[in-house]
Amino acid sequence: MKFSQYFLPTLKEVPSDAVIPSHILMLRSGMIRQLTAGVYSYLPFGLRVFRKVEKVVREEMNAIGGSEFHLPALSPNELWAETGRLEDYGDDIFRIKNRDLVLAPTHEEVFTSIAKPNLISYKNLPQIWYQIQTKFRNEPRPRGGVLRGRQFLMKDAYSFDATWEGLDVSYEKNAQAYRNIFIRCGLKFFTVSAFSGAMGGSESEEFMVEAEAGEDTVVISSDNKYASNLEVAVSFSENIGRKNTGLTCEEFHTPNIKSIDELAGFLKITNKSRLAKSRLFIVPSKVPDKQDLYILALVCGDDEFSESKLANMYSGIRPAHPDELLEIAGADAGSIGPVNFKNKDVKIIADLRLKEADELISGACKNDFHLKNIDLKRDVPGIEYMDLRTVKDGEKTITGDATLRMAKAIEVGHIFKLGTRYAEALNAKYLDINGKENVIIMGSYGIGIERIAAAYIEQNFDKDGIIWGGEIAPFQIHLISVNKKTDNIKITAGELYSKLKEKGFEVLFDDRDDISPGVKFKDADLIGVPLQLVVSEKNMKNNEIELKFRRTGERKMIKIDEILDKINEIYVQIK
Ligand code: ATP
Ligand code: MG
Repeated sequence: MKFSQYFLPTLKEVPSDAVIPSHILMLRSGMIRQLTAGVYSYLPFGLRVFRKVEKVVREEMNAIGGSEFHLPALSPNELWAETGRLEDYGDDIFRIKNRDLVLAPTHEEVFTSIAKPNLISYKNLPQIWYQIQTKFRNEPRPRGGVLRGRQFLMKDAYSFDATWEGLDVSYEKNAQAYRNIFIRCGLKFFTVSAFSGAMGGSESEEFMVEAEAGEDTVVISSDNKYASNLEVAVSFSENIGRKNTGLTCEEFHTPNIKSIDELAGFLKITNKSRLAKSRLFIVPSKVPDKQDLYILALVCGDDEFSESKLANMYSGIRPAHPDELLEIAGADAGSIGPVNFKNKDVKIIADLRLKEADELISGACKNDFHLKNIDLKRDVPGIEYMDLRTVKDGEKTITGDATLRMAKAIEVGHIFKLGTRYAEALNAKYLDINGKENVIIMGSYGIGIERIAAAYIEQNFDKDGIIWGGEIAPFQIHLISVNKKTDNIKITAGELYSKLKEKGFEVLFDDRDDISPGVKFKDADLIGVPLQLVVSEKNMKNNEIELKFRRTGERKMIKIDEILDKINEIYVQIK
C-alpha cells in the first residue's frame, strides 16, 4: 500500500476525549474515529487490524469444526420475550421504535431458533456454530474507544450437545481455540472462573488481559497458579477463634456511633476483627404470597463484604433500604447486629473467619446501642457460615503457598456452559437413540474482535506509539523513502516495494513527497509496523538501507542487494 494513496490520518496531539492508551493511539494512528458516544467508524488502517483478528478467530473456529453463519442484527421482540431476556436486558437492549424488533446484543435466541427445527435427532449432534457479526448493546457507560462500544464485532459461538459429557468436550474445544487465538494475536492472557450473570448457566470462564485500563479487578497469585475475578476470589484467612471467657452478652451505650471505625475509636481498640460488621439483605420472593427472605450477613470489622458472593448464592439479593431496616431490625444501619431482631424471621450468615467466635461486639438492633460478648455459638442459634469477605491485596492463597496481588484486567473472551436454559425456554429438543425426547444442551462462547486489538495495544505501546506484532500487525514492513522529488531514491524504494510484495510481504510504502523525514519517522513509530526499512540518500551512497525494529528500536545497515535474500530470516526474529 502506498501511503500517498492511503487514507491514514495520523494525529500529533493527544485527542481531548481519550484517556486510556489504546483509545488515544487508535485515534492518533488513524484507526478509528468516533461518530457518537460508543459508536466508531473504522478507518482503513483500523479495519486492517480488525480483519486480521477476525482471520485468526475464523481459522481457529474452523479448526475445531465450527460452521460459520451470519445472522441478522434485527430480531423480533417475541423471541426475546420467550426466554425472558427482553425484560432481563432492560434498557441495555436497543429497541426499534416503529417495529417490534430489537437490535440483538447476543444471539443465543436466534441460534437456538435455528437449532430447534433442524437438530432433531441425536444423529444431528454435536454441533458448533459461530459467526463474526455486529452486536448492539446500549452500554450505559461506553468507554475507552472500542474497548466498550455500543456497536462492536463479536465472534459468538454456540455448541449443541446431546449429553453433559458432550458439552464438556465442546466447551474444552472452544477453550482450546481461545487459547490458540489469543496466543496468535500476541496477547499475554490468563483465565479466571466467573459467575455467569445474565447469561444463566453454571460454569463459565473469562479470558483476561492484564492492563491498567481494565475495568475488572482480578486477583493473581505470585506463582501464577491461581487467578480469579475479585468478585469470587478466595484467600487464606485465619479464623478469629474463641476466647471461651463465658462472659454474658451485655448492651452498652454508643451515642452517635455509626461505623466500625467510629466504634473502634470509641472503644480505643485497634484490632477490629472482633467488631462484627452487620448488613441486612433482602431476597425478594419469586412466589406471590411467599414472604421475602431476610438475611443478616456478618463479617469481621477489618473485612469488606462481598455482595457478589452472596448474590451467587441468592439470586436477586439486594441491601435492605433504611425504612426496611427499621421495620425488620428495629434500628438504623449503624446499630444492627445478629441478636435481638425485632422481626425474628431473619437468616443469619457469618463469614468463615467468624466461625463459632465469641466476645464479639456488634449492633444491638436498637439505635445508639451495641452488644458486647456476643457468642455466635451460644447467642445465635441456627447461624450459618460461608465465605462472605472480599480478598485483600497481599493475602496468601488458600493453600498458603503464594501471595495474592490485585490487578486490573480487560475481559477479551468469555465461555459458558449454558446447559438447557435457552433450549428449554424455546423448546428445542432432540430424539435420543431410544426415541426419547430430551432438551438440547448448549454452550456459548464470545470474543470481542475490536477489544482484542485494543487489549493488544494496552500491552504493546511506548511513548512513540503502537508496537504491532503477533499475527495482527496491519502491515509487516514499513518502507520509508527519504527523498527529494527529483532523486532516484524513490525509484529504488519503489522497486524494493514491488519485490517485497512479490515475496508475499504486506508493505506500507511511505512514498509521500513534501513530507519531511522527521514526520515520516514519527508516523512510522506511531502506527507501529514491526519492521521499518529506510531508503535514504546517505545510505544509498554505500548501497545500503537502514532497518529498524520497532519494538527494540535496534537499527542495522544492510546491503541493498542482500535485503531480499535476508528478509525472511530477519522477519522471523520479530515474531
Ligand atoms: P463486559 O463484562 O465487558 O460487559 P460481557 O460479559 O457483557 O462483557 P459477553 O456478553 O460475554 O461480554 O461478550 C463476549 C465478549 O464480547 C466479551 O468478552 C468482550 O470481549 C466482548 N464485548 C462485550 N461487550 C462489549 C462492548 N460493549 N464493546 C466491545 N466488546 C465487547
Ligand atoms: Mg457487558
